[in-house]
Amino acid sequence: MEIKVDAQGTKHYPVICCNCKHDFHVAKSILQEMGLLEAGMATCTVCGKSLNLTFLPDEEQMKPMLLADFMQQKKTNQDGNPS
Ligand SMILES: [Zn+2]
Repeated sequence: MEIKVDAQGTKHYPVICCNCKHDFHVAKSILQEMGLLEAGMATCTVCGKSLNLTFLPDEEQMKPMLLADFMQQKKTNQDGNPS
């Protein structure tokens, strides 16, 4: 999978849906451009799942995770003790 660059020069990075393995391209969100690398979001066009995207600058890739799992992980991290 390759990075695509559109007419405006915006890079679109490959993502493989972690639910159905459909592959598509997304640009970085404004927050990701500002350095909040885990602040990406996308909806898979095939299975319709909401995905959280973390940009991996070393690999120039988006790492997808189901949004529900991402939220759960954040919550667990913040609480320190999941009950
Ligand atoms: Zn999907």
